Amino acid sequence: MEKDDSELTLFGALDAFPGDPSRDVCPARAIRWDGENLVAFVVAGDCIGCGLCVSRCPYGAISLGDELTAKVETADPDGMVVAGPANGEHPQVNRGGQIATLDAPAAANLPAAVMALDDARTTLLVRNLLNEVGLNARTRRRGDTNMRIDAVGFSRSERPFVAEIEIGAGVLESPRALLEDVAVLHSRYGYAVDAIDPLSVILSFPNGRSEYYQVIRDIEKVLGLRCRTITVGALVALLWYCARLDGFDGDSFTVGEGTIDLADCLGLDEAKLAEPYPGAFRPAK
Ligand code: SF4
Repeated sequence: MEKDDSELTLFGALDAFPGDPSRDVCPARAIRWDGENLVAFVVAGDCIGCGLCVSRCPYGAISLGDELTAKVETADPDGMVVAGPANGEHPQVNRGGQIATLDAPAAANLPAAVMALDDARTTLLVRNLLNEVGLNARTRRRGDTNMRIDAVGFSRSERPFVAEIEIGAGVLESPRALLEDVAVLHSRYGYAVDAIDPLSVILSFPNGRSEYYQVIRDIEKVLGLRCRTITVGALVALLWYCARLDGFDGDSFTVGEGTIDLADCLGLDEAKLAEPYPGAFRPAK
């Protein structure tokens, strides 16, 4: 299960950004091929239960459901809508429905599973999640010391964004790093500063009293730049509900004192009811 060239292409000057060439859809490389029985299978011990493969499989053969990890079946196990193959050709991916509910064991297990991934796999997970929810994203080529922006891309409204991916303790540094990223995108690629959306992709929101929110507010007050925040849990929620993110218009994904709740931005009614894990939509109490 691999991405094709068109998915890894960025339009305009940003196509020169040195990107990770990996075509893997599965960030954990958990999908293998059984050459004897000619079927794909998932190595449960490697699978993090993200649901990316469920979303991509054109035959609806992979499911998550109430399981902790994905599994491959020969019939459509979850009744999701798939495009029918025409003239014996490989069908296009065209899914609707729901991969799993946000109270599934795989959702609760995400923080531990993501923390266990190495940096390269974590970055691949984020890139593929951004892609699947409708953002044309490219993550930095590993080992490229001339570039420190973690990811760049375009929303569906064709506004460029820069992203910092901070899964661990680096969250507090993320807004400051975004300032540098915006400067680089402006000076090297020619995009106007006020046309760039800076985005932090984090695992969980810091405590509500954290300096993180103050720095974001200061940056907006002094420089007029609105730093956005989205969590891996929020991206997974969008993926599991087969929803798409058009962009970062208005107040979307801008967090501040008293207004920290991503469930309000996702357009998913049910998302309010079940946070996939503490800190995914709002600071954990
Ligand atoms: S659920 Fe995610 S980690 Fe598991 S096999 Fe599918 S893509 Fe890989």
